[in-house]
Amino acid sequence: MTPNFSSLKPPTRGTPISRRGGQLVVPDNPIIPFIEGDGTGPDIWRASVRVFDAAVAKAYGGKRRIEWFEVLAGEKAKNATGEWLPNDTLEAVKAYKVAIKGPLTTPVGGGIRSLNVTLRQVLDLYACIRPIRYFAGTPAPVTHPERMNVVIFRENTEDVYAGIEFAKGTPQAERVIEFLAKEMGKRIAPDSGIGIKPMSETGTKRLMRMAVRYALAHHRKLVTIVHKGNIMKFTEGAFRDWSYEVAKAEFRDQIVTEEEVTAGASRDGKLVINDRIADSVFQQILTRTAEYDVFATPNLNGDYLSDACAAQVGGLGMAPGANIGDDMAFFEATHGTAPKYAGKDVINPGSLILSGVMMLNYLGWVEAGALIDTALEKTIAQKQVTYDLARQMKGAKELKTSEFADAIIKNM
Ligand code: NAP
Repeated sequence: MTPNFSSLKPPTRGTPISRRGGQLVVPDNPIIPFIEGDGTGPDIWRASVRVFDAAVAKAYGGKRRIEWFEVLAGEKAKNATGEWLPNDTLEAVKAYKVAIKGPLTTPVGGGIRSLNVTLRQVLDLYACIRPIRYFAGTPAPVTHPERMNVVIFRENTEDVYAGIEFAKGTPQAERVIEFLAKEMGKRIAPDSGIGIKPMSETGTKRLMRMAVRYALAHHRKLVTIVHKGNIMKFTEGAFRDWSYEVAKAEFRDQIVTEEEVTAGASRDGKLVINDRIADSVFQQILTRTAEYDVFATPNLNGDYLSDACAAQVGGLGMAPGANIGDDMAFFEATHGTAPKYAGKDVINPGSLILSGVMMLNYLGWVEAGALIDTALEKTIAQKQVTYDLARQMKGAKELKTSEFADAIIKNM
């Protein structure tokens, strides 16, 4: 049912995406809310939406079409409504199930939390999914960037990102310090700031369940649990144990653990589950890149790992992302608003375009997703790229944001 928006007007054409028995029901003309984003957001949105529409039109010969519905967040929302994240926007995502966004400014000060973190928590988008692979021709800092092809499942709502923090010297921090000293016999320096790191069995298991389901559905070979459980035993260590538990309890016939294989069990085409300590993963992903496949990891490890893997294949300008829960999904560019380039039509729209590919695949419109993927790859291989890649490539033709979109559409 369409909610009663206070200021938004949904499109008069199109049909909402819904769920039946937990399954997504996608009509041929779904209404999809979008947030164009701040800074360079409008530049990359304008380019990306043309690519999405062209791919859908070409893949389905006009039988399918997305009805875009602009919803507001960030500076545009603040100017139009006085709020950074209007309730209408949250209601629209809840009602239409699938949405996409450009980057948003994080307002500094004024007690406003990151809009991205708020969206993830309020909509319970508990998995941040980042597929990272190499596009041939992209300048990269390593000798074999093509060996990287991983998908990172990062827990999105818990860990030190839960937002439970108390500044040094506040009555709250002092009370926590006093409580720990009196009740638990644990000494903390009195001039400390305090942050809490909650990690739950429920939060961990649903993340791991999603990672394993994805790996099985996409015929991946390995899921690696990344944790720092040797030091943080009851949070990161428990994350490791709960992850193995859910894999064995719910997918026993389809998985085998690395430990079981070492003890003589046959792989027999099954998905292997192993775990690695977080710091070792950072050297392994550089030195034994091709061995890694799907990662399941808590919030902070996942944040670092995502950017490190993206950097290895040529940077953040091309890295897509999705925030997914059991009911809703929000696809997003992973870089920031790059405000100094706003309105100049120069920025790389690759991250948002590839996030759109993830969205099309999520809808089951894989033919349209594949058209974009292949055309983007071809465009980069032809050395037709935006400034960020052109400045690192010999003989590249530097294109504007809009021209890059034209080139991709032409290559479809
Ligand atoms: P940023 O906007 O990501 O930009 C930093 C630099 O990265 C840019 O100056 C540019 O480098 C390069 N870059 C970023 N996106 C690019 C693209 N699409 N194509 C080519 N180059 C790109 O980071 P920031 O300046 O730290 O953050 C600006 C604002 O964005 C802040 O308000 C921050 O909170 C917000 N932010 C939002 C998100 C999000 O919405 N998901 C994520 C991160 C940050 P060169 O100058 O070298 O060309």
